[in-house]
Amino acid sequence: MKIRCLCDNIIYDQREDLPYKAEYIPDQDYEADKGTTIRFLAEMIRSWAAGEWEKFLDTHFSVKYPHDLPIDSIVSDFLTRQEILFRHNMYECDTCGRLWLQTHPDKDEYVSYLPETEERGLLRGRLSR
Ligand SMILES: [Zn+2]
Repeated sequence: MKIRCLCDNIIYDQREDLPYKAEYIPDQDYEADKGTTIRFLAEMIRSWAAGEWEKFLDTHFSVKYPHDLPIDSIVSDFLTRQEILFRHNMYECDTCGRLWLQTHPDKDEYVSYLPETEERGLLRGRLSR
């Protein structure tokens, strides 16, 4: 994925750990995203403890979903599904500082916002600043 910024810089997204990329969840989607995740994990633990694992998997995944996956794969699959529903990407152009925000999680469309100050690097990870 790449975006040609209005300043002509090309913003690439072809690897992990990018210092100019972040994800955001609209506040109005927070409950649908985090609340659903919390309920999923709680039900997962209760189902495991109650010996209702097969029923849990059938309730939350398709009939073809394998029942012998490690738990971390199941959680990852669920979180990926949530990500597709609610997470938007954003990028900061390292030349002009424009922020590019994804208009919808499943659309490859972005809108830009130009900063009014010289501060840059706002999307860097907390541990890399
Ligand atoms: Zn730019």
